[in-house]
Amino acid sequence: MGCNLHALNRTKRAILIKIQSFVFNPFQENTYVIYDDTKEVVVVDPGCYDEDEKKELADFIVENDLSVKKLLNTHCHIDHVLGNLFIKEKFNTKLYIHPTEEFVLNAQKVLAPHYGMHRYEEAAPDFFLKEGDRVEFGDQEFLVLFVPGHSPGHIAFYNEREKVVFAGDVLFQNSIGRTDLPGGNFDTLINSIHQKLFTLPDDVSVYPGHGGPTLIGNEKRTNPFCAVTKS
Ligand SMILES: [Zn+2]
Ligand SMILES: [Zn+2]
Repeated sequence: MGCNLHALNRTKRAILIKIQSFVFNPFQENTYVIYDDTKEVVVVDPGCYDEDEKKELADFIVENDLSVKKLLNTHCHIDHVLGNLFIKEKFNTKLYIHPTEEFVLNAQKVLAPHYGMHRYEEAAPDFFLKEGDRVEFGDQEFLVLFVPGHSPGHIAFYNEREKVVFAGDVLFQNSIGRTDLPGGNFDTLINSIHQKLFTLPDDVSVYPGHGGPTLIGNEKRTNPFCAVTKS
């Protein structure tokens, strides 16, 4: 039995995830291309705005012979959605957001010029994701976590096997997302961090919307906004 189990494990061995990040637009937003050896891809929060940024992102996908399966938004602030239409049209893919975030997305065409983004073109969502949904591509599966507070329909994408979570603007290295934008709420954000992100294992890597990655365990210990102090 032991030998058979070993063989089964070998044939079912995981195809390891690969994460390519780009820093785009004046807000220095992290855009993620997530893929594995199957060459299937999801793009998370494409912030590419000018032609050079769009070319950099598209070239990476084309040159690595990747196939874009889904376009995901953690939330729909302008810095995370600038490249939505480009990715949808260039790679003929569909946009997934949380339903509560649709009005935030719709507001961006009015807000964009106030941020100097006069060439922003909006893209409509195609599908909605909610807490507990699974996003599949290649050999990967992401669990959708509903983590409002920075934005009212903010979601995170957690891959349990690979121990990674794409958390948007909820939790940063030693910081948290701002809560002064429409639909933001400080207490809601802190609850999302404690009830959703901080219940993940300590060795899960957090890939945020801005800045470098961190670990759940590190933020639990040292994040000044939400560290878990021993009583
Ligand atoms: Zn944001
Ligand atoms: Zn952001």
